[in-house]
Amino acid sequence: MGTGATTDEERLRRVAEALADAASARAAGQRRRLPVVQPADVAGLVAMLHEQLEYVIDMRNSEATAAGAVIACGRGCNACCMLPVVVGEHEAVAIALWLTQPENAAVRERFLGGYQAWRGKLGDRIERVPTAVSSELERVAFEYFQQRAMCPFNTDEGTCSVYPVRPGVCRTTHALDTNEKCQGQSDTIHEIKHPAVESTIAGQQAMREILHETQRPGAGSDIMPKAVMRHLAKATAFPNQPCPCGSGLKFKRCCGA
Ligand code: SF4
Ligand SMILES: [Zn+2]
Repeated sequence: MGTGATTDEERLRRVAEALADAASARAAGQRRRLPVVQPADVAGLVAMLHEQLEYVIDMRNSEATAAGAVIACGRGCNACCMLPVVVGEHEAVAIALWLTQPENAAVRERFLGGYQAWRGKLGDRIERVPTAVSSELERVAFEYFQQRAMCPFNTDEGTCSVYPVRPGVCRTTHALDTNEKCQGQSDTIHEIKHPAVESTIAGQQAMREILHETQRPGAGSDIMPKAVMRHLAKATAFPNQPCPCGSGLKFKRCCGA
């Protein structure tokens, strides 16, 4: 299945090097213009980051199994898909690009069909989710969860319709032994921490930040479906047509503004 992402490793290596250079120059206090990174290259780099994550997640799962523990998540177990998924813009670009591939048209249509209802259920809670980890995030995330607004990508009998390109946070969030605590009885989020997964996430942070900055300079992270809609609308809408997010406004006054 096509993703639209660049798969040429040599090209991706060059883009990654240019980004790493720019990041180090900025960290050293130098003013440095960021390279322009095309969506296909963003998606290619995101795929590489996901591949690294999958590798350490598999390692963690094997260790957990060997120690007699059970990773309780499984196909169709989707309570965590009602939590706010906060992403950098690069992850949104990769998902939007995947959705514009002709073979993914049916998934795109289901997303566009469900988006407005999802937004309506959450109202301004979407804007109130803090984008940095904090106790306030836990509180707001719990309130958000209680609206039971399922991610508009969770459309295939409880499963993720964008599974191949789902964000890193959806890959790394797992319940240990039982998924009973995922049903929202508590406002404390329990996460499994595994050293290899944590150090991989930490090691990716600089690349994620600079990639985000190339796609949405000066802005913070965002709630994933909203960020994806922003890019999908750009890729599919004409300025004077109704915005595909279903707001009733012209695209240029809504997601294209
Ligand atoms: S992107 Fe997929 S895994 Fe992530 S919250 Fe949405 S449906 Fe769930
Ligand atoms: Zn819109």
